[in-house]
Amino acid sequence: MTNRSVIIVGAGLAGSLLATMLGKRGYHVEVYERRSDPRNTGAERGRSINLAISTRGLTALAEVGLQDTVLSRALPMHGRMLHPVSGDEVFQSYSAAGDRAINSISRGELNAVLLDAAEAQPTVRIHFNHQATSCDLSNTSLTLESAEGKATVSADAIIGTDGAYSAVRRAFLQSDGFDFAQDYLPYGYKELTIPAQGDEYALDPDALHIWPRGSSMMIALPNLDRSFTCTLFWPKAGDHSFADLDTPDRIVSYFGQHYPDAAALMPDLLDDYEHNPIGSLVTVRCSPWWRNRSALLGDAAHAIVPFYGQGANASFEDCVALVKHLDDNDGNWDAALPAYAHERTPQANAVADLALHNFVEMRDSVNSIGYRAVRRTENLLHQVLGNRYQTRYEMVSFSTIPYSHIEPKLKRQRQGIAGLAILVGALIGGSMMIRALQTRS
Ligand SMILES: Cc1cc2nc3c(=O)[nH]c(=O)nc-3n(C[C@H](O)[C@H](O)[C@H](O)COP(=O)(O)OP(=O)(O)OC[C@H]3O[C@@H](n4cnc5c(N)ncnc54)[C@H](O)[C@@H]3O)c2cc1C
Repeated sequence: MTNRSVIIVGAGLAGSLLATMLGKRGYHVEVYERRSDPRNTGAERGRSINLAISTRGLTALAEVGLQDTVLSRALPMHGRMLHPVSGDEVFQSYSAAGDRAINSISRGELNAVLLDAAEAQPTVRIHFNHQATSCDLSNTSLTLESAEGKATVSADAIIGTDGAYSAVRRAFLQSDGFDFAQDYLPYGYKELTIPAQGDEYALDPDALHIWPRGSSMMIALPNLDRSFTCTLFWPKAGDHSFADLDTPDRIVSYFGQHYPDAAALMPDLLDDYEHNPIGSLVTVRCSPWWRNRSALLGDAAHAIVPFYGQGANASFEDCVALVKHLDDNDGNWDAALPAYAHERTPQANAVADLALHNFVEMRDSVNSIGYRAVRRTENLLHQVLGNRYQTRYEMVSFSTIPYSHIEPKLKRQRQGIAGLAILVGALIGGSMMIRALQTRS
């Protein structure tokens, strides 16, 4: 077989799915992963324990027959449950009919399912504890460090799926004409835990819980062991920031004041707060995603902030696109890599914008009466008009409409509704005028 050897750097979510897809097509795949096998070592403390998989991710997983396996280990969340500082919780369903759900799954479980699937392919090998240190794009080779020392390997193609701080991307940065932008939010994230209460969930497991607090927020997703993983999204510095809350007294008193219902369910609050790391929230945009026979995929190509729960979903869509272009081009990397990048770069830029926008919605807008009224109207329109009126959330989470088509479609829908409103107004006004004239005569 020619052109059939591939190196994948990084056996995270995207790398292991891509290895499975290529393995199923008979490609010889060598995957190099910096960490040890996560199936033996478990989750790293405070590193996004769980995540939400929705229609896009599931559609990609279905291509390798993993959709049902993943769903069987996930918990559906049909809406968001808002927790005000005082007063009752408010449930907002994610879809107009209330029947659609996003799915909470442990990152470790999902990675394990994907690693098992990749290793089940006879032509795929995964090398853990191998860190890529540099990449030579001119001859498609990679330098690695492991316990055995340094080594250089090469293949017909190299795909960098080594995450937001990609080592493969560093080689792209040195090549002429490569555009790169990285934007950090002045916010960080930290994970906390709400444990099970006996055999029960402490909160409703059918919802993604949000404590919107204007300029910051906390969210919680359910786990199969009946615990919840909470994530604080707070400013890194300034008032009410991670830097500001630096003593046990201040932490306990702040939580008691701003998150009283959650704090009462967190026996390990102080320990979690003091020992779990603060993660950064970065958006990476770059282009082009390929050079010779090397390419970037997943977070290595497009890290986005997590507020739409789409980073992994979008990365899985990348895998589908790359193998589709390989199939369409009889395995010709020189044709497939530019076609893949051409298709996916606008999608990554669009979902990056959507994710940034949704942070404001989650931490602030969801609280307002106006926002709730708009949502009710939108749900009604969707029920009446079907797919001719879809909300932004439905298009992002429950469809495979290209991300870049979503804002233009929303604009067209709004124009259509405005036009309809003007027409109805004109008809009502006209009939009133006719009636008035008839009464006079
Ligand atoms: C707090 C948080 C919540 C999130 N929630 C969601 C969500 O709900 N839904 C969703 O779809 N997405 C979510 N995401 C985004 C999602 O985690 C990422 O988009 C996804 O993990 C990207 O997959 P990846 O394989 O590209 O990168 P990663 O999963 O980061 O995998 C990269 C792999 O490469 C390895 N690696 C790195 N450098 C090297 C090297 N030099 N050599 C060898 N190996 C290397 C790493 O060890 C890792 O295994 C969230 C992210 C965060 C931070």
